[in-house]
Amino acid sequence: MPELPEVETVRRTLAPHVIGATVARTRLVRRDVCESWTCSPKGLRRSGATAVGFLEGAHIAAIHRHGKHLAIIAEDGRALGVHLGMTGSLGWASSLPAVLKHVHAWWELGDAGFMYFEDARRFGGLQSYPSFADLKQHRWRELGTDAMSVNAGELFEGLQATRRSIKAALLDQGVLAGLGNIYVDESLFAAGIHPLRAACEVPCDRVVRLTKVILEVLNSALAKGGSTLRDYRDADGKRGTFQSLHAVYGRAGQACIRCGSPLQSQRISQRMSVWCPTCQPI
Ligand SMILES: [Zn+2]
Repeated sequence: MPELPEVETVRRTLAPHVIGATVARTRLVRRDVCESWTCSPKGLRRSGATAVGFLEGAHIAAIHRHGKHLAIIAEDGRALGVHLGMTGSLGWASSLPAVLKHVHAWWELGDAGFMYFEDARRFGGLQSYPSFADLKQHRWRELGTDAMSVNAGELFEGLQATRRSIKAALLDQGVLAGLGNIYVDESLFAAGIHPLRAACEVPCDRVVRLTKVILEVLNSALAKGGSTLRDYRDADGKRGTFQSLHAVYGRAGQACIRCGSPLQSQRISQRMSVWCPTCQPI
């Protein structure tokens, strides 16, 4: 699943192609991945997905990200939320690819080519809102602070509030938005914290260290265009290369890069977790 570095890489690679472009035509191929929200006297209500709702005629002004979520903002205020789910990608092409098997929506940008949303397993989706403020209040309301901008005080407070393991707490998008299985395991290794340690029992000085290494791990991954395990590609179709630098993720049973101990693994919160029993004592 694309996590923060992959989603941010999509944002950074898509922006130069589409910001400033005008959407000449929107084509929604599969409406079951398109959610449309409009204003009513009783607040936002779900309505039928239309091309106009999904940015047709819009001049694209900005692309924002929070955690693993993207929002494309039109100059007239309309906002389109994008979640990549497990296998989704938001790409750009100078012309539409001949095979559109898993392309569920595309936007014709005049001379600026095409933006398209592709998702083989359809756990991702698109959501249209009248404004970015509506999108934030509705779609992003339960997300915690973005992992790129969290400070140690906020993270300590979030971890103190739960008796779950630190692995489960860091996967919870309401505690911290953006981390998934790869970057939680890599960050816990870099901070020397066992994934089954109770979140509320991690002392303040370790949370300060954890906050620092989360940012370092995310920035290192960003510098490599994220991690491509199977499907992930940036907006230009390029693979990430950070997977070759993973210290623990996907390396169960192999030697720890620091101490040589065999790495252990166990399912925690339904996700396979890998750690070093020596560098990350319980
Ligand atoms: Zn080790």
